[in-house]
Amino acid sequence: MSLKICNTLTRKKEIFKPRKDKKVNIFVCGPTVYDYAHIGHARTYIAFDVIVKYLRKKGYNVFYLQNITDIDDKIINRAKEEEVSWKELARSFEREYKKDVKNLGINSISKYARATEHIKEIISQVERLLKKGFAYQIEDGIYYDISKFKDYGKLSGRTALQAEDAVSRIDNSKKKKNKGDFCLWKFWSGKDWEPKWRSPWGYGRPGWHIEDTAITEKYFGPQYDIHGGARDLIFPHHEAEIAQMEAISGKKPLVKYWLHTGFLTINGQKMSKSLGNFITVKDFLKKYSPRILRLFIIKTHYRSPIDYSEKAISQVQNEIERIDEFLEKVKSQKSKVKITTKNSKLRIQKFKKEFEGAMEDDFNTPKAMAIIFELIREVNPLLDQGTIDKRAIKEILEFLKSVDEIFGFIFEQKKAKIPKKIKKLAQRRAKLRKEKKWKEADRVREEIKKLGYEIQDTPLGTKIKKL
Ligand code: AMP
Repeated sequence: MSLKICNTLTRKKEIFKPRKDKKVNIFVCGPTVYDYAHIGHARTYIAFDVIVKYLRKKGYNVFYLQNITDIDDKIINRAKEEEVSWKELARSFEREYKKDVKNLGINSISKYARATEHIKEIISQVERLLKKGFAYQIEDGIYYDISKFKDYGKLSGRTALQAEDAVSRIDNSKKKKNKGDFCLWKFWSGKDWEPKWRSPWGYGRPGWHIEDTAITEKYFGPQYDIHGGARDLIFPHHEAEIAQMEAISGKKPLVKYWLHTGFLTINGQKMSKSLGNFITVKDFLKKYSPRILRLFIIKTHYRSPIDYSEKAISQVQNEIERIDEFLEKVKSQKSKVKITTKNSKLRIQKFKKEFEGAMEDDFNTPKAMAIIFELIREVNPLLDQGTIDKRAIKEILEFLKSVDEIFGFIFEQKKAKIPKKIKKLAQRRAKLRKEKKWKEADRVREEIKKLGYEIQDTPLGTKIKKL
């Protein structure tokens, strides 16, 4: 089977062939660290976590690079509001971001690169753009002249003229040659709270788009395999990256495969910090396990939008329960059925093949998930009847473990030890229930809750969970 990927640049599904043998260099735009990450960010980062893990499973040697935008007007303004330095603010939200990422089981990133630790590389790119005539200097900074780059718009399908409406962040100078020109280097305004770095043009700070090409050039060179991000970044951000790097190197394409995730929306609107309609990863994880978020995201194709609602989450909770019940049954099965090829192997192979087929088709995770649920549906009655042999059970577990190395929600992660006191209270509650002393049993349940644990009565018995 060969992997096919939908490429935003060519607007086609293409067979995936890295630039060099089995080596894959992938860059995904990281967060701007001025606030807590929300579940919209998680959508994009979980999607790429799955993609990278799948590529590694297929034997590719993947280097996954992510930048941290630690300099930006939003950071500067927030720091001013909070009366802390930009650096303190950025570092503290970076730490929080990394904690969230870890809690969500996103552990595929090979390297994080901070924008402010690549000022030398950024300056070098701006110098080369000036030298080649793609950039010009005006009173407040150095700008990229989009009219000089004839391929401008090839990723987004937009022309330079249409770019007028899409300038953002620090690009709004009236002295620019074209409205769509963007800032590469912003001169220091003289305000002492504004961060600044020394450059050949005096003090200043980098523009937004240039940090990414400076970072990728350092680690990958002028061309690489995959660039990812959510679809809002196609224009102007990724378009600008192409314009910068291809103008500097004269080589194209900068990136062979461009992958863009759909938005996580809430009531149909993009979840975003600026709209204030967000749920932070931290708040989500106070209520639900990370498995819920991973399955919620993975059950939709990475390119499609996902609309968040409590109803959708409660459906995912049911699905996770179904998986858990199935796994408990599989693990507790003491099969006496004889091992025959007829009894087992062929069916499992079919599921494995179909799963791979789905993933090979542009990482079709919803289809892959449907196959897992089909397996559960098919095997469940065999488990109930005890008509499944040991080898089949072993194979099912092996298959699901290998799926979980990519998806990360099938098996519950190591549970925290339940303290003796809680266990004893749970036993007392069970005894009271047996004696039909419901009110007293409920009181004990409340006591357990106050101590930070929850009792769940499931068809497979009582479970204790840390809140
Ligand atoms: P930011 O911190 O806003 O620069 O965003 C970091 C990454 O998360 C970028 O790739 C964004 O496009 C992505 N992102 C932000 N909001 C959402 C959302 N609601 N759904 C999906 N991805 C998002």
